[in-house]
Amino acid sequence: MAKINENFTKLKKNYLFIDIAKRIAAYKEKNPGKEIIRMGIGDVTLPIPAAAVEFMKRGANEMGVKETFRGYEDTGRGYDFLKKAVADYYAEREITIPLDDIFINDGAKSDTGNITDIFSENSVVLVSDPVYPVYVDSNIMGGKQLIYADATAENGFKAMPNYNVKCDLIYLCSPNNPTGAVYTKDELKVWVDYANAKKAVIIFDAAYEAFIYDKTLPRSIFEIPGAKTCAIEMCSLSKTAGFTGLRCGYTIVPEELKAYTEDGGEVSLRDTWTRRQGSKFNGVSYPVQCAAAGVFSPEGRRQVQTNIDYYMENASIILDTLRSLKIPCTGGENSPYIWFKTPSNMDSWQFFDYLLENIQVVGTPGEGFGKNGDGWFRLTSFNTHENTAEAMSRLKHMLR
Ligand code: PLP
Repeated sequence: MAKINENFTKLKKNYLFIDIAKRIAAYKEKNPGKEIIRMGIGDVTLPIPAAAVEFMKRGANEMGVKETFRGYEDTGRGYDFLKKAVADYYAEREITIPLDDIFINDGAKSDTGNITDIFSENSVVLVSDPVYPVYVDSNIMGGKQLIYADATAENGFKAMPNYNVKCDLIYLCSPNNPTGAVYTKDELKVWVDYANAKKAVIIFDAAYEAFIYDKTLPRSIFEIPGAKTCAIEMCSLSKTAGFTGLRCGYTIVPEELKAYTEDGGEVSLRDTWTRRQGSKFNGVSYPVQCAAAGVFSPEGRRQVQTNIDYYMENASIILDTLRSLKIPCTGGENSPYIWFKTPSNMDSWQFFDYLLENIQVVGTPGEGFGKNGDGWFRLTSFNTHENTAEAMSRLKHMLR
């Protein structure tokens, strides 16, 4: 008799975006002619940069020629040409990343979830509340114990460590999804010192690092002294370069990073992750890795910046609107997400329905990211200028 992994029965019934999709579908059925503006889901709208297309075409052509055809990649960890491009990207910030520490993957979601495989099922995992739900769900599936650190208006939505709390794994996301908050170097240093003191490991999700304009803010945890003995970094080209449909990202597991056996023996996490990937992952397709290399080429970097500037102009439109309405908000300055207090103390699902009913704008209820998200709401800057401006004009009109 096949028995289920009962951890799956502990998951919340519906994924947030399924709930949202259902409410939109129900509204559309009742109001067929109404035009809805989606400012909720975090998918991008601009196409991938031309340099990525060119590099991908070259890669695809090579696959059709006997001499340049490529089958399985030897290690499944990514071709050196792409790992070198990633290492150079970090070198610009004076961070040295050896190629062997880089693992090319099919986007950050897989690895933020899969990384939990290599840690003991007795691990205590600390996440912030509100939180990107993938961290929670994948650790519940793996039977780990979750504890929460509050991220609230009082601490600028940046949870900080409490030395009285014991944990083994810590998920940090900066710029944060959903709140848009970004840790400073000093704040990250507090986390790095805490993790080193507790022999804990930080999983640092830097999926939105490319949206940081302020040069004083860290785009990588490896900008912080001491991070290589306590942190894994995950990054993605999804939002940076419109790769949500292409799928490519990378994880950095430093050689220096260790975890421990029950009897206190030291084990290399890089070797353990290599072993795990060797058994469960056969790598990213060659043309997609070529496209990713195109993103890191000089012309690719310029094109990516143009797209990010476009989204950040949307973020400014949203921020200006909320500020003019005197609504408390965060994010939007070094992040594509804007997080704001729902007006008139509505709970976040009430506000979701209110927006949909009155102005046909869809956002994401903060409550879907944890209890501290209740009474808060997330908008994204990934729509077009026209739609963003129209949505904000409707919002202004409604709230005035
Ligand atoms: N991490 C965060 C914080 C995200 O918001 C997302 C996507 O929305 C991801 C990771 C996953 O991105 P992908 O799997 O497309 O690289």
